[in-house]
Amino acid sequence: MRRAVLAVSLCVLSAAAQTPEPGKSVKPFIRVDAAKIVLTHVRVIDGTGAPAVDDRNVVIEGGKISAIQPGADVPAAAGTAVLDLRGYSVMPGIVGMHNHLFYIARPNLNSRRQFDDPVLVPQMTFSAPRLYLAGGVTTMRTTGSVETYADLNLKHDIDAGKLPGPHLDVTGPYLEGATSLFIQMAHLTGPDDAKQLVDYWADRGVTSFKAYMNITRAELKAAIDAAHARGIKVTGHLCSVTYKEAAELGIDDLEHGFFVNTQLDPGKKPDICSESMGTTTLDHMAPDSPEAKDLIATLVKHGVAITSTLPVFESMAGSGRPAIRQKALDAMTPQAREDFFYARNRPAPPANAPDRALLFKRNMQLERAFVAAGGLLIAGPDPTGGGDVVPGFGDQRGIELLVEAGFSPVEAIKIATLNGAIYMGKDKTIGSIAAGKNADLVVIRGDPGTQIADVENVEIVFKDGVGYDSQKLLDSVKGRYGAY
Ligand SMILES: [Zn+2]
Repeated sequence: MRRAVLAVSLCVLSAAAQTPEPGKSVKPFIRVDAAKIVLTHVRVIDGTGAPAVDDRNVVIEGGKISAIQPGADVPAAAGTAVLDLRGYSVMPGIVGMHNHLFYIARPNLNSRRQFDDPVLVPQMTFSAPRLYLAGGVTTMRTTGSVETYADLNLKHDIDAGKLPGPHLDVTGPYLEGATSLFIQMAHLTGPDDAKQLVDYWADRGVTSFKAYMNITRAELKAAIDAAHARGIKVTGHLCSVTYKEAAELGIDDLEHGFFVNTQLDPGKKPDICSESMGTTTLDHMAPDSPEAKDLIATLVKHGVAITSTLPVFESMAGSGRPAIRQKALDAMTPQAREDFFYARNRPAPPANAPDRALLFKRNMQLERAFVAAGGLLIAGPDPTGGGDVVPGFGDQRGIELLVEAGFSPVEAIKIATLNGAIYMGKDKTIGSIAAGKNADLVVIRGDPGTQIADVENVEIVFKDGVGYDSQKLLDSVKGRYGAY
């Protein structure tokens, strides 16, 4: 690899017509950029769920995959970069579907909410995009924004080649009801307000919306109708509205697997978030129960996707879990690291609470049943929680946890790549490895098709045919994640 990369260290002008010339903040991270790039003798995991194919040549021209051929040696030529990738795999760039550009830290044991008041989420406009790209994410939905102008400007600057990062689907400000845990959220005053919020932000370039825990059914309906009128999709991390109610209102996607459905929560009142926030419902929804079957059938009938966010729940899954990766800790500020260890070591919930490890497993079973019934499962890490879910690293961990849930490695990779592209209506151009598609590819040492942990060994991330050096991106954010 090292030799191969040395051979292409001479950068040739990118021939990708739609890719602008990289600016001074992007150039230092580029490892491969040439009019023609040939990845030789590489194992291809194409993102469709098909088995991996060994020893292929993947040809990249004009920012796109121009051919996939049997493995062969290719002579070096002017304007052509040739990489010998024996022992490596390529998979599609990750399409991250719950990938925030902010961070929640500062857990506080003394507060019922486990956070200091007021709950603030600092914006990670500098570090998060670099971490995502370093981890193999080439397209992502922000899934709720707190500094929406910053996110829109970031998208603009990434697309203009001024800043490194994935392609962004910028989600508008959270569509939240009259109250909220988070002080940065808007508080909708009714259906008209919901429609106005959607129209205002859609006019300014927002391409998705997310409803939140205290929205009313009427507000959600108004937001969905306004968004759909403009061809924009709406997802939700719900509580006040149940999954079935939201499906019937026309929502497109539901966040957090089956963790936050409240239909069986005791004392659940219409339009009011329940105390249990979905825990009781999950506890009472065995995958073969009539309630689960009915719910899944309703979601599939209405074409509602489910976003799996297993990493943000992993800390509830009990002991024996792998430690947070050192590289992820290295990315964090000293304060973020301290807060993370503080949160991790706080006492377990009282013994009469539902068995959290069982709930984690139950949710995995429901996600599998949803896919078996024909549902579209997409994935994102939700880098919030106790600080242990870090952009990029969390996306990789999500794929590993989907394998733990019982999906095969190539199925898990499909959920994290092609399925997201299908949801976004972009599967003609991204999400899998095929001739004619955008060259959004992750070069990985090893074989995640058989050993999923290899998905962590990202070396080069191609976005629109330009290869970024994962380690250089990580080095550039060391000690900064958590601050900005
Ligand atoms: Zn989230």
